[in-house]
Amino acid sequence: MMIVIMKADASMSEKSAVIARAEDYGFKVHLSDGKERTIIGVIGDSATINREQIERMSGVERVVPILKPFKLASREFKPDDTTFSLNGHTIGGNEIIVMAGPCSVESRSQIIETAIACKEAGAHVLRGGAFKPRTSPYAFQGMGEEGLKYLAEAREVTGMPIVTEVMEPALVPLVCEYADILQIGARNMQNYALLHAVGESQFPVLLKRGMSSLIEEWLMCAEYILSHGNTRVMLCERGIRTFETYTRNTFDINAIPVAKQLSHLPIIADPSHATGKWEYVAGAAKAAVAAGADGIIIEVHPRPEEAMSDGGQSLKPEKFAKLVTEMKAIAQAVGRDIKS
Ligand code: PEP
Ligand code: MN
Repeated sequence: MMIVIMKADASMSEKSAVIARAEDYGFKVHLSDGKERTIIGVIGDSATINREQIERMSGVERVVPILKPFKLASREFKPDDTTFSLNGHTIGGNEIIVMAGPCSVESRSQIIETAIACKEAGAHVLRGGAFKPRTSPYAFQGMGEEGLKYLAEAREVTGMPIVTEVMEPALVPLVCEYADILQIGARNMQNYALLHAVGESQFPVLLKRGMSSLIEEWLMCAEYILSHGNTRVMLCERGIRTFETYTRNTFDINAIPVAKQLSHLPIIADPSHATGKWEYVAGAAKAAVAAGADGIIIEVHPRPEEAMSDGGQSLKPEKFAKLVTEMKAIAQAVGRDIKS
């Protein structure tokens, strides 16, 4: 894989000639027509293409092989930020997307009540797990398809699109019937069959970082999804395991600027799983906005003490509403915004 950097004054026909040559070799091309310069990504085994020949074509400034193990996910390949629209919102753009909802869908009334409260507080996307990856087989496993139906009802009521987890390839078609964004949980980050299936689905994907995964491994998993032609991938930092046990995980705030530098993909922060205690969620969320996150996903429950999962890290709607106001001020301080 390599990129062809065109000269600033390269003409349309010079660009087309490069694309045609790459396609003649049997490569796929990806055009980034930036304001400053045009970059043509050439996808395939670059050992079989003659780099010097391309470099001698008119209008070409230089040809650079992509050395990073992740290619399609890399900023070298696509210098401009990936953005895509979802229900009137632009993800990855100047506005920060706010996703909120309970850890699990517990009943029809619980998800609808929470969805309305989250929307009133300023959320744009509703979260809620119907298929839950629990550490214990004896813990609540989620409501399954019934939960998906309640999520769809909550979308009807509030107009908010839905992000929900899918845990196995065979269930991707079912979850796609109800969801707007497919969540890959931390425990499934390297489930390659699942990455393949969500890649093929062409649905937007929220890819959580595995709890003991390197940033590079996480980007390689995004690469699996991208390699199936699905470009709508969001990275999600949700905390990693360290020696510290006071909090559930350690929020790797570094991962935000690192991922933004290495990749063009939007990055979403999950301060709820990163801290595991509701008292610390607001602090971590605000830090994530300041650090450059493109979105935030937060667990909210109207009665956290009754929650069937992750009650201890769930914010009550009033606390969440206050946090959205604070995040908006931080967003504006760093040249961004949160749509009201
Ligand atoms: C969740 O979002 O409720 C969840 C299970 O998250 P993670 O996969 O990050 O643990
Ligand atoms: Mn949870």
